Amino acid sequence: MSINQNTSPTLEDIVSLCKRRGFVYPSAEIYGGLNGVYDFGHLGTLLKKNIRAAWLQSIQQAIPHGQIVQFEGPILGPQAVWEASGHLKNFHDPMVDCLNCKHRYRADEIDLNKPCPHCGIKNWTAPRQFNMMFKTHVGAMEDGSSVAYLRPETAQSIFINFKNIYTTSRVKMPFGVSQIGKAFRNEITPKQFLFRMREFEQMEIEWFCKKEDALAFYDTWCASRFAFYQSIGIRSSHTRLRTHEKDELAHYSTATSDVEYQFAFGWKELEGIAYRGDFDLKQHSEHSGKDLSVFDEETKTAYIPHVVECSVGVDRLFLTLFFDSYYEDEAEGEKRIALRFHPRIAPYKAAFFPLTKKQELQMKPIYERMVQAGYSVVYDESGSIGKRYRRQDEIGTPVCFTYDFESDMDMMVTVRDRDSMKQERIAIDRIEEFMKNLLK
Ligand code: ATP
Repeated sequence: MSINQNTSPTLEDIVSLCKRRGFVYPSAEIYGGLNGVYDFGHLGTLLKKNIRAAWLQSIQQAIPHGQIVQFEGPILGPQAVWEASGHLKNFHDPMVDCLNCKHRYRADEIDLNKPCPHCGIKNWTAPRQFNMMFKTHVGAMEDGSSVAYLRPETAQSIFINFKNIYTTSRVKMPFGVSQIGKAFRNEITPKQFLFRMREFEQMEIEWFCKKEDALAFYDTWCASRFAFYQSIGIRSSHTRLRTHEKDELAHYSTATSDVEYQFAFGWKELEGIAYRGDFDLKQHSEHSGKDLSVFDEETKTAYIPHVVECSVGVDRLFLTLFFDSYYEDEAEGEKRIALRFHPRIAPYKAAFFPLTKKQELQMKPIYERMVQAGYSVVYDESGSIGKRYRRQDEIGTPVCFTYDFESDMDMMVTVRDRDSMKQERIAIDRIEEFMKNLLK
């Protein structure tokens, strides 16, 4: 067996595997699709669930004794929220059209001194600003008072609920509020599969603290968020933390760092960590006329908390995990594709096979026991053992257990490792302990 690892899959390799194995489908495919929107099949759904769980665990452990409460806000927000947050005024991308072929581009992503990459003719419109929020109307009246927007980030619903959360959750400063939920951006050119979508999911934490502690917390969050990616198995050689230059900073930010990943299409942002100052709470306080300050018992003064935010897309991390885990080598003279997902991330933690249909009676109860114990596992009895291994390798299942002819005699099964392809025998009554260790 020769190991010829291809750790640089193309985007096409990943799109094809995702479709073939039922992780991700183009949305509304039978009607020709909807650009920048995707559907997730069974394995994709399991993977996303594991991503969310790993993220939640990591933020809860990031700050010793730090309290983090959870929150779920709505997708729809009235115009007033986006006016106060600055999104109506600032959430723009520059757009140009080719007057010849009508192709549309983000003006900051192409060279306007050169011809259109699509038709080869240079005939551009002047760049103009395009607001990326989806606008809609709430209720039957389409007048100004009914205007609402689909949220372009989850954060704002936390800020406008700050007082509710602070007064009812029994938290003390400093503390965090986390939220996982959908966000929508009418991206001019959605591309690179799950990297730039129009409907996606964000995982955000807003850490509220005093101004004088904010920069130290910002550093702690940067270090902790960076470490998270290694903890779920992403190679450190492919991640880096990049601090934004002053002219790159978003309208609300005084310091920002991105965790970047080296995708096949270059180093790109995976997560943004931003020190937002007191911008958001101040804006909402001024626009709503409601006091969003907290009272400091020590100094007997009221102040508006400062905020450090960490924000990562579930889908962008999903894509990152595919790029990072995709390996090709050879097994029994054939090409083998394996996703080397960390066991915590893998959709299935283990597969259970009877060697032949005859061993079903013995293997099914072992599998059922693992289901009852709460493990995400799968049972497969169709095709040769080699084929079954390949199937599990391609969806990232870390181990496969096989009940064979000797199992009746020695009460042991074969366990085969996805990455090394090594096999060993373990006692049936040690399988659960094995699973526990796998997920440690
Ligand atoms: P980019 O520069 O790539 O457009 P951004 O700076 O606009 O990203 P943020 O506003 O910081 O992104 O959003 C936080 C996180 O949400 C990003 O790091 C990314 O993981 C995710 N995200 C943002 N936009 C999209 C999108 N269109 N599709 C998928 N995920 C996204």
